[in-house]
Amino acid sequence: MTVHCPKCSADIDDTYEGADPSVGMMTGGYYCQDCDVSVADWEVSREPLPDDVPISFAKAPGERIGTPASEISTKPGTPGYEEFKRIARSWGYD
Ligand SMILES: [Zn+2]
Repeated sequence: MTVHCPKCSADIDDTYEGADPSVGMMTGGYYCQDCDVSVADWEVSREPLPDDVPISFAKAPGERIGTPASEISTKPGTPGYEEFKRIARSWGYD
């Protein structure tokens, strides 16, 4: 893997140094002397890949999870009251 400086794009592949907690380096990384820029190795390894998939908790696009609060009303006769009653019943209230 080749690592480039994020500023000047110089090849900083051979500047790698391992973690050294005694000098405050908690993670290994690369360093560009010209720009005084360091690149942690986890930054390099976490570069987004084209096939990265965004993590989503929805089972399908557009699928609704639960009931939006905007669709619930505690006022009788208003839209959402029936939904409120249905949810209240599921909690054990009448
Ligand atoms: Zn540089």
